Amino acid sequence: MSLSCELLHVIQRKGSDEPYGMDSYEGARARWCAGCGDHGILTAVQRLLAAEQLVPEQTVFVSGIGCSSRFPHYLKTYGFHGIHGRALPVSTGIKLHRPELSVFTVMGDGDCTSIGAAHWIHALRYNVDLTVMMLDNAIYGLTKKQTSPTTPQGTVSNTQPRGSYLPAMNPLSVSLGVTNASFVAQTAEWVPAHLYATLRAAYQHKGTSFVRILQRCPVFTPEIFASAVRDPSQIALLVHDDGVIVPEIEKIYKTQIHHDPRDLAAARHYAESDDRIHLGVFFRDPSRPRYEETRRTTPRTPTERNTRLEEEFDKYAV
Ligand code: SF4
Repeated sequence: MSLSCELLHVIQRKGSDEPYGMDSYEGARARWCAGCGDHGILTAVQRLLAAEQLVPEQTVFVSGIGCSSRFPHYLKTYGFHGIHGRALPVSTGIKLHRPELSVFTVMGDGDCTSIGAAHWIHALRYNVDLTVMMLDNAIYGLTKKQTSPTTPQGTVSNTQPRGSYLPAMNPLSVSLGVTNASFVAQTAEWVPAHLYATLRAAYQHKGTSFVRILQRCPVFTPEIFASAVRDPSQIALLVHDDGVIVPEIEKIYKTQIHHDPRDLAAARHYAESDDRIHLGVFFRDPSRPRYEETRRTTPRTPTERNTRLEEEFDKYAV
């Protein structure tokens, strides 16, 4: 298979016991447009990496193609800027063969829900331990305003100049419908405290954690989230001890719904509800099986190989 990819950064090892700060993860200067929501997401991710003290050379960011997929360039970790829609199979392969690494996947809405849709569904089902971020600005930005599956119906774009024809896909409902999905959340980049708390909960979850991040694109879809940004009453927070609770935003976002993330039926109800934008952990079930635990992994060390061989021989003992 021809694969256009880059191994992005030569990692400088830290030679001291000094803790990693946010600047420890700064890569190239971000080239997103001024005002793009991706900048705030990058900051939240750097904050998460520092809070978790992730070792840069044991951390990998994998992306597909799109504005948001430039993410790995802007972090001083390992990175794989791959091909359109294929970030999840690459991430899965990395995690299966290097389980000690922390693997993050970054996709846009077109990348994930269109060309990458089959990988998205099966990655959720396989439930490998990945932190998956889908940055949803409801448009193909890199290719200059083409309708994506999450573009609201009626939005004028360069591919559908009379307004997009179909109702938008709901990535939360789709994710919640996948057998064995174990973590589904939604947050918004213009609520940075909630964004950070959600990403941290997603990272700490064992299994595939899918986070849809509502993301402003001031160039091509400036109107889509504008009224929700101006008017906090359009947002409802799903709060629970097993989800995310962000006390510092409670005075601004006064609509809070106590939602147990184990309640799949309620999660689907809130995902479908269009009276408000719901932010929080919709569903979480850490007991769901992970592929890497259930499959018989290839032995890696001589000791493991010997042990496996002895087990096989023992089957034929008389
Ligand atoms: Fe961000 Fe939109 Fe610019 Fe892409 S086109 S970098 S999504 S503001």
